[in-house]
Amino acid sequence: MNRICAEVQAELPDHVAGEQPWWRRRLVAVHLRRCADCQAELAHQRTVLAGLAAMGDVAAEDLAPPAGLLDSLLAQAERPGLRGRAAGPARGAISGARPGLSAAFLVAGAAVGTAAGYATWRGAKAVRSRVTRS
Ligand SMILES: [Zn+2]
Repeated sequence: MNRICAEVQAELPDHVAGEQPWWRRRLVAVHLRRCADCQAELAHQRTVLAGLAAMGDVAAEDLAPPAGLLDSLLAQAERPGLRGRAAGPARGAISGARPGLSAAFLVAGAAVGTAAGYATWRGAKAVRSRVTRS
């Protein structure tokens, strides 16, 4: 890699983010037009940035389970019907634990697992749609 390419590629993260002074942006753009190596690096930087942006969105919007989901599931676990059904296996699995409490833990664990799976699926979908859009 020659010195100009090294300098241009050091600028690429700012270039992709649009955080360069106009004259440096211009210099990078001129070099990119005739340098395949730096074009490939630019494409790589764009993919990384899109992935990071998607991860940021996932953390902010999607990772938290819907509000009240855990509470409503715990409330359902307290109902006699479910407690009666879940008490048998739970009592054998966690000796000494109160049946009602065990059922609540089992349902809460299932809810957290489901929410995490949903968030992962949403995140993967967001990354795919961003990459194909850009
Ligand atoms: Zn170059």
